[in-house]
Amino acid sequence: MRFDVITLFPELFAPFLASGVTRRAYESKQVEVVLWNPRDFADGNYRRVDDRPFGGGPGMVMTAEPLSACLDAALAARGAAAPVILFSPIGETLRHEAVERWSAGEGAVLVCGRYEGIDQRFIDARVTHQLSIGDFVLSGGEIPAMALLDAVARLQPGVLGDADSHVQDSFNPALDGLLDCPHYTRPEQWMGETVPPVLLSGHHVQIERWRRDQRLAITQQKRPDLIEAARAAGRLSPADEKALQKKL
Ligand code: SAH
Repeated sequence: MRFDVITLFPELFAPFLASGVTRRAYESKQVEVVLWNPRDFADGNYRRVDDRPFGGGPGMVMTAEPLSACLDAALAARGAAAPVILFSPIGETLRHEAVERWSAGEGAVLVCGRYEGIDQRFIDARVTHQLSIGDFVLSGGEIPAMALLDAVARLQPGVLGDADSHVQDSFNPALDGLLDCPHYTRPEQWMGETVPPVLLSGHHVQIERWRRDQRLAITQQKRPDLIEAARAAGRLSPADEKALQKKL
């Protein structure tokens, strides 16, 4: 799949694309990332990409024309129509289900806003989806773009070291959308604390039951809405319900 990223700060992406477990996915183009700078599509000596807001007020607004020309170039390079995602606090908050959908598609063009935002006429004419990464405001859409790219890349087959290790992560439908259980590693004793004995027992059935119970208890405590969703989808077994009763 291919993601074209429209950003005034393409240099922010270099270390991100070259680091960590997802690096191979980007380098092999399993998840291809192509960077575009709207400034390269702006006219004039100063190559301006922003201007003062009509109606007054603080800050600057990204102008429509360089963004639109940049998007045309990205779409032409792709050779086919593609979804155009704008990162914005007013967008739909990104969740696991949407990440799964994007990670099974052909990719998209990602538009990173800066300043106070983007001329609304560009958004109305060219943007097909708006995504937020939470109820807070960043200075630009680059971190949200990296968040989506990273979440999508780690779901691609073979990207995480262990086959399918993302399946045990929080929100995964394979584990009924529950939160993750606690993890422990060596040493067995740290600052006087031991690890839960069941994890040292070698008894795989009991270990799985313990992990499931932990997931249920933690999800019940922190995100009861996810327990309700799993229950409504018929994903909780009688043993799960018993475990939930115990923890109450
Ligand atoms: N005036 C806007 C914020 C602009 S912040 C408002 O109040 O809604 C500048 C850019 O950062 C935005 O255009 C957007 O691309 C990005 N951004 C900021 N917060 C974000 C968030 N929570 N999710 C996604 N993108 C965000």
